[in-house]
Amino acid sequence: MSLHGKNFIGNILSANGDKSSKIYDIHSNEPLEGVFYHATKEEVDEALEKANLAFFEYKEKTQAQRAEFLETIADEIMNLGDELIVRTIAESNLPRPRIEGERGRTVGQLKMFANLLKEGSWVEATIDEALPDRKPLPRNDLRKMLRPIGVVSVFEASNFPLAFACAGGDTASALAAGCPVIVKAHSSHSGTSELIATAIIEAVKKCNMPDGTFSMVHGGGRTVGQQIVLHEVVKAVGFTGSTQGGMKLFELANQRKTPIPVFAEMGSINPCLFLPSALKDAENMAELYAGSITVGVGQFCTNPGLILLVKDENSEKFKSKLSENIAQITPSTMLSSSIQQAFEKSREETLSQNDIELLGESKLKNTRAEGRPTVACVTAKTFISNPKFHEEIFGPYSLVVECESKDELDLVIESLEGQLTATVMGEEPDMLEFKKQIFSLENRCGRILFNGVPTGVEVCHSMQHGGPFPAATDSRFTSVGTGAIRRFVRPVCFQDCPNSLLPEELKDENPLEILRIVNDKYTRESL
Ligand code: NAP
Repeated sequence: MSLHGKNFIGNILSANGDKSSKIYDIHSNEPLEGVFYHATKEEVDEALEKANLAFFEYKEKTQAQRAEFLETIADEIMNLGDELIVRTIAESNLPRPRIEGERGRTVGQLKMFANLLKEGSWVEATIDEALPDRKPLPRNDLRKMLRPIGVVSVFEASNFPLAFACAGGDTASALAAGCPVIVKAHSSHSGTSELIATAIIEAVKKCNMPDGTFSMVHGGGRTVGQQIVLHEVVKAVGFTGSTQGGMKLFELANQRKTPIPVFAEMGSINPCLFLPSALKDAENMAELYAGSITVGVGQFCTNPGLILLVKDENSEKFKSKLSENIAQITPSTMLSSSIQQAFEKSREETLSQNDIELLGESKLKNTRAEGRPTVACVTAKTFISNPKFHEEIFGPYSLVVECESKDELDLVIESLEGQLTATVMGEEPDMLEFKKQIFSLENRCGRILFNGVPTGVEVCHSMQHGGPFPAATDSRFTSVGTGAIRRFVRPVCFQDCPNSLLPEELKDENPLEILRIVNDKYTRESL
């Protein structure tokens, strides 16, 4: 399939604008196939108006129909075959096994939401039957469930060109919830986005979903992206990327006549606390962490960017082993020139701060496409006093913070902003000794893990990927796992509604046999 570079205005392809962009190979600087036409204001408006019209029909599709739609999208993505894999590798510079794995994750996410819909209980149907004889006042018949919020705008992430992108977790959860989606394609992988959008539109047609259920547009975030967020028909935003981008969209959304939620996941330095019992195993710990810091060239929001320890007889050995391991790791190609340049700049700026020690770096120098694995070290006092050390460096980098005492460790943890993850390494008796510090970490993160590495996020019901600000704009929600659907629904209570008018999930007969709370009790029974 050759790439047309057009925008998907619902089911119609359109390229009315005179602005366009290409994608360049990071090594040769030669353009890849395809010219991508930025959407005009009129095209964006048309896509959003179509989405708004589609909402009223799409939200009334049964859960089974939406499940079939998600499964069909998954099939259509697989039908793209190797062409998708080849294009995604060319645009992201990520290796084939990673991209094939990510395709598996993308398709798996769609099927996971399809299964959630087939089971149906996620809508939290809750019924309190009328009590006409209650004294002093009767009770009305009250029935509540989660209903779709409306049109959702999705901003693709650069670091997961499939799984956090056009048909990624945000799109899958919004479509599952019953919301039409408009995707703002990421400028670093527009060809991948086009292929995936083609698959989604194929599924829209095969499953007889309304035109406008899905749209995808190209163009700059500051023009096309902001126009989408400011449009009154948009009711929620899903975003993964930089703090600057996420916060801009968050501010705009709050300045609208009708403010809307922006679920922005903006990264984290993911503190990892090494307890004394973990430092005893310096060799293995250093090897494990050197791997986690550099996997995927460190381009994960869960990258272990901060290692906390209390100085003892083993901490020096741990630091020197970590430095040795990092020195052995070859620099690798990053996602894009802009991300490589951003990494280089942040690395240099950080290493030029006062009182920072460069612990180790890859013994091979990087090319202008690559990120050089690096670890540095500061004292607790230096860390606390310099906000620069609290910033995410997106790439293969981590900072060791050496504390003189447990009290100093307390102060370091208290100085931390909200995080996606926190990790504790050590043996159980040690963990009990450091219980206060561990729960202080828990207070600042969305996922706390023990004796592992934060990279690698399981997609499942119990996952929490989100955390207190500034890791995310709303710590009550997750962007990974089935819980992600809750971002795009709102509770609605039907009071004294005739049974024939109620959504299936709330009808007396409970035709879907879902689990409901009826008069204080969990049950699948009909009334
Ligand atoms: P980004 O610059 O935040 O871009 C993400 C998306 O938001 C793009 O579609 C971009 O559009 C749009 N955007 C950016 N700034 C905007 C603004 N002011 N108004 C409206 N839309 C805006 O992220 P990126 O390009 O993926 O990577 C840049 C940096 O973000 C990285 O170096 C890293 O620090 C961070 N990052 C974090 C994560 C994470 O997991 N939290 C993931 C990836 C990147 P255009 O590109 O078309 O302008």
